[in-house]
Amino acid sequence: MAREEAQSGPESTSLRNLWRFMAYSLPYWPALTGGVVAGLLRMVLHLAMPFLLKSVIDEVAKPYVDGAIGAATAATRLGWMGAIFGGIVVMHFGATLGRQYLSHRAAASAIRDIRFRLFRHLQRLSLGFHTQRPTGGIVSRVIADVQAAQQSFDLILIQLSQQLLQAIAITAILFWSDWLWALVAFATTPLFVVTTKLIQGPMRRATRQQRESVERMSGFVQERFAMIREVQSFTAEPHEERHVLGEAETLRRHTLQQQLLRGILQAVTEITRFTGLAIVLGFGVYRIVTGGGQTTLGQLPMFYMYTNQALNPLQFFANLYTQLQAAAAAADRVFQFFDMEPDIRERGDEKVLELSGPPAVRFEGVSFRYPTEDPAVVLSGVNLEVPAGAQAVLVGESGSGKSTLMSLLPRFYEVDEGRILVDGHDIRDYTTRSLRAAIAVVPQEPVLFTGSIRENIHYGRRDATRDEIAAAARAANADAFIRELEDGYDTEVGERGVGLSGGQVQRIAIARAFLKNPQILIMDEPTSALDATSESLVLEALARLAAGRTTFLIAHRLSVARSADLVVVLDRGQIVEQGTHEELLRHDGAYATLWRAQTGESGQ
Ligand code: ADP
Ligand code: MG
Repeated sequence: MAREEAQSGPESTSLRNLWRFMAYSLPYWPALTGGVVAGLLRMVLHLAMPFLLKSVIDEVAKPYVDGAIGAATAATRLGWMGAIFGGIVVMHFGATLGRQYLSHRAAASAIRDIRFRLFRHLQRLSLGFHTQRPTGGIVSRVIADVQAAQQSFDLILIQLSQQLLQAIAITAILFWSDWLWALVAFATTPLFVVTTKLIQGPMRRATRQQRESVERMSGFVQERFAMIREVQSFTAEPHEERHVLGEAETLRRHTLQQQLLRGILQAVTEITRFTGLAIVLGFGVYRIVTGGGQTTLGQLPMFYMYTNQALNPLQFFANLYTQLQAAAAAADRVFQFFDMEPDIRERGDEKVLELSGPPAVRFEGVSFRYPTEDPAVVLSGVNLEVPAGAQAVLVGESGSGKSTLMSLLPRFYEVDEGRILVDGHDIRDYTTRSLRAAIAVVPQEPVLFTGSIRENIHYGRRDATRDEIAAAARAANADAFIRELEDGYDTEVGERGVGLSGGQVQRIAIARAFLKNPQILIMDEPTSALDATSESLVLEALARLAAGRTTFLIAHRLSVARSADLVVVLDRGQIVEQGTHEELLRHDGAYATLWRAQTGESGQ
């Protein structure tokens, strides 16, 4: 229903966004102007045709039949007209091609720019934006909505001027040559206009429902195949099939509805066209029979052809509003994303973070809530100081805010209160780019993108050499298994590293981090998804990676806390204890309880 409201939002913003959309074609004004000029020329040539036909009858055929001119004169005149006709045909060909090429060149360039800028903008929006939206919705804006709004280029830039010219010219010509006949010619148009108006509403609804149905179905299909393992293991296939069948049936209904309406419109258009033409011819013949020679025989086909042509602009203007509305709705959806400001904004005077060694990291009174509709406090008053090069281990129950705290350091989210200092300065005083360049995150379940293993490691630092990539893989305990693969480093890995074990994917991710060579390392339960054998290989690689950096390790198993410089215990968004492993055991508080629960020993 929220979608519904967005659709019928205030008209002024719709039109404004449509103009903003179309303004992207302005840099291509030469092609644009060329396209419009060629289109107008094409229309003028169109208009010349019926007139030429009239001349053939009234200046050649009729006088010859009447004996007013001889065969030679008739042949000469006909020759001239044939030449003019040939000229028109050639120019028409050129104008049509020119219009098509130039205006679509401008439109396609504008669309390319919009897609690129939208993608760039969306990439820069903070995680808060992305985690709240289904990926499918974002994809459909960049692809489908831009496509739908593209229609406005065709309607306004390419067609409007031509149709307007055609409408005005035909009306003028017809009324100028015989106003009564012209009135008769347009007698059936109200039927057409009224039907179009009546059908527009239901048509718009059907189109929208169809689009939403497609959106829902593609979202559903995308998600189900992403979790196909779950579908199969829960033998939920029949359940999912029923769902898809239901959606496909809805889609069938809306499509049918839309096509039926389209059929009605088409039938009425044709009836209007045929009866209109019949009336025009009938009245013309009546005029010739009864009139005192004012109406010429040649006017008959001319009127016929002009009346026929007049239906095009009529049809165009009758549909213009609906089509523009659809395009405007799409443009609205596109600009809704464009107009979202990134939460993480830079003032412009930020310094580049340059570190010669691992920095000290300090959290001062940090409070945070996720920017959701109903925000709950996730962190409150967190104070934490990690000396340069030290290793902090974060423990605490699931949901206590460990991952959240760590996502504040690379500034994925903005703190609500307090500040975070790196090397003694507020992270907001550094450019986000340089801050993030200094930090590597090894997540619980890393993601590999489609491409080779080499490309996936390369992502860590895009200017690394092949040797550096191999060195990083060796350090990450990944080199050996990669070499054993048939294609080695060139092995293609799928969307989520299909074909590799969790431990192997994790080691590729660690190689990535090695390549990045960060001064700060964040590891968020990096081994919690792994079996014991993979775990030891990964832990060994991580220990190597952590050396000489300031590190944060979110641990699900407390054994790693024993060697940490600092153990931090979080509970419901607050730090409840911190100190070394021994200190905390002596303190005999929350940590000691956790320790005993996990190891079954007193630890001392
Ligand atoms: P931990 O890593 O300690 O398990 P998290 O930092 O993931 O805890 O979560 C802390 C709290 O924040 C939880 O209550 C969780 O529901 C909430 N939370 C986590 N991520 C988001 C998010 N993207 N949007 C809204 N709330 C979130
Ligand atoms: Mg977590």
